[in-house]
Amino acid sequence: MTFLLLKWKVKANHPSSSYDQSRKVWRYLNSLLFSPPRCLLPLSDQKTLFLDLDHTLIVSLEELPTEKFAAGDQIMLRFMEETLYVIKRPGVEQLLRSAIASNYEIVIFTAGTKLYASPVIDWLDPNREFISHRLYRDACTITIDGKCLKDLSVTGRRLDRSVVIDDSPTVYGKHRENVIPVSPFHGDPGDVELLNILWFFEFEKQFKDLRLAVKNY
Ligand SMILES: [Mg+2]
Repeated sequence: MTFLLLKWKVKANHPSSSYDQSRKVWRYLNSLLFSPPRCLLPLSDQKTLFLDLDHTLIVSLEELPTEKFAAGDQIMLRFMEETLYVIKRPGVEQLLRSAIASNYEIVIFTAGTKLYASPVIDWLDPNREFISHRLYRDACTITIDGKCLKDLSVTGRRLDRSVVIDDSPTVYGKHRENVIPVSPFHGDPGDVELLNILWFFEFEKQFKDLRLAVKNY
């Protein structure tokens, strides 16, 4: 009831022309009330690789792509009333295998909803051999202007033992130093961005703090 009143008050104070702003404020208030718990993941003593999904590991297109991809690198999924053509970025499997071989646990951290992202992750890791945990949009922090931030400090992972690969490094805010940025993947079959990162798993072995490895990489 309190929430309904709050919603009514926000709407009443921001009539029609400011309705978008009032919706952002309402989402922000909700995020404060229902903010994620301080430790989203169960304990682990492994190093952690956080991977973004959209435009980092895959791209979802509404139209059938004109480029040719191998059967295992493309899938058609139904999402709500839409058909999506999901394309795997070249090098995804090598990246997952390299991380596991270097004793990382792999966590997908996406701003996508569970409804959308879960079947995509199932497709990327059908036997559940690589990805230990999945964090969806509800694990993100919503800012007052409606942006989705990925706050590593609520994941329960040590920052000196965490690395992130994401095409949107700014969403990590103060944890930007953990992020290896990649260019956004739009479906280019000749993309080599992930393949170029593979040597990081060798390179980082000389550093105790993974943030220093990222900085010097
Ligand atoms: Mg992304």
